[in-house]
Amino acid sequence: MTKYLMTDGRVKKNKKKIEVVRKTEIERFIEKIKVDKTLGCWMWKGSVNSSSTIQYGQFVKANGLHIAAHRFSYEYFREKIPKNKYACHRCDKPLCVNPFHIFIGTQQDNINDMWNKGRAHPGGALHPNCRLTEEIVIEARRLRKNGFSITALIRKYNVSSKTIRNALIGKTWRHVKNPKLKIRIRL
Ligand SMILES: [Zn+2]
Repeated sequence: MTKYLMTDGRVKKNKKKIEVVRKTEIERFIEKIKVDKTLGCWMWKGSVNSSSTIQYGQFVKANGLHIAAHRFSYEYFREKIPKNKYACHRCDKPLCVNPFHIFIGTQQDNINDMWNKGRAHPGGALHPNCRLTEEIVIEARRLRKNGFSITALIRKYNVSSKTIRNALIGKTWRHVKNPKLKIRIRL
């Protein structure tokens, strides 16, 4: 017979021994993931960051600090993310925390600078699809208007079909002004 002192001060007798198991950081992380077997994405089922236009998973580390779930995953399973670098998604799913769907975005210092000064456009170069830049989007839209196929653009910029399509139709990169169309005159 074991006696337990309850939080309300009562003493309770119980034959069963209660064991309090404290989950490790990684156990808590893993239990918030649901694997998408088709895509291989580790979809985050925990809390999300609601303050940004892009919703990322949020995780509380063992030390109490909050971190974006995909960044935690990358740093836990792969390597530390260098300062001022971005963890971008190859799969276009911000809630995916599969460390192998994430790559480090190498952005120009001026874009980082823009972010630090709060001048970055939502949906712009800080979008998970960091591979595109404003220059690339302008160029891609121009090429598309000149008859480049989507497949050719995917190959040229090494991005997913969804990424390029969204950029072309202005679902993303809305703030980037469309190039002026050259008027071609047929003689
Ligand atoms: Zn994924």
